[in-house]
Amino acid sequence: MKRQFKFVFGFLALAVCFQASNAQAKLNVVATTSDIGALVREVAGDDANVTTIAKGSQDPHFLEAKPSFMVKLRDADLLVANGLSLEIGWLPSLTRGARNPKVNPGGSGYLDLGALIDPIDKPTETLTRAMGDVHPDGNPHFTLDPERNAELSLKIAERLGQLDLAHKDAYQKRALAFKSRIDSKMKDWKARLEKTGIKEVITYHPSLNYFLSRFSIKAPVNLELKPGVPPSAQHILDVIAVARTNKIKLILVDNFFDTKIADRVAKEAPGTRVASVGIAVESKPDLKTLDDVTEQLVRTFEGK
Ligand SMILES: [Zn+2]
Repeated sequence: MKRQFKFVFGFLALAVCFQASNAQAKLNVVATTSDIGALVREVAGDDANVTTIAKGSQDPHFLEAKPSFMVKLRDADLLVANGLSLEIGWLPSLTRGARNPKVNPGGSGYLDLGALIDPIDKPTETLTRAMGDVHPDGNPHFTLDPERNAELSLKIAERLGQLDLAHKDAYQKRALAFKSRIDSKMKDWKARLEKTGIKEVITYHPSLNYFLSRFSIKAPVNLELKPGVPPSAQHILDVIAVARTNKIKLILVDNFFDTKIADRVAKEAPGTRVASVGIAVESKPDLKTLDDVTEQLVRTFEGK
């Protein structure tokens, strides 16, 4: 009897220990880019460990698949990807190398945010990567749109809550708080951009199209010939013509690209200025959150 009691007691103690360690184990979340990481952190707070792969100062279309990234994915409970082919050049080889079935497409720990939005700039013809266009599924740079981010935060909260029931309510609460913060900041950003009177800009790559379309600003032409393809001499002349005719005041260049070509256009089109902007969290030291990135873009329009 005594022995049996000891056995039952021992089993109970073990079960309690197991539960306690389970409660303490935080979810390991890997986000493919610094923007997706920032969005997940808004929702996860301190309840999950969030790490990222691509740095904000790197062109997310082209990244070297390092073994250290595979290690991150091997131990991940959840992979949150941008999708829409943004990571197609490097993520598939990382997930293959990680040997963690959870984080493969279709797995319980795989969340593709691009699949949850209606993308803009969908090509009218069938494209392959061999043709050089890096946006074959439409524009993947949706994290530059504060409103889409706010909607997506709710989806992230839903998935985190499924994987970590204990913090389900906390995740949802943070996503709702993020959404209401964005809703209130949008009014200020809209009013300030409206005040600048800038209705058209030129960008190097179509990275800012979601931002621009959210604030009703047009980009009649890009400096790139097509997404991922540098301009030809003829295309530069065409861009200069548009800049002159449309009296473009501002050319925006992602800060991992050279401003040389934009500077040349501005020289030929009086009244046009060039700004090198961070298009992602951590692309500049002071851009720590998604709000910081939007704020920086609004200030650039304001000439600050
Ligand atoms: Zn792109």
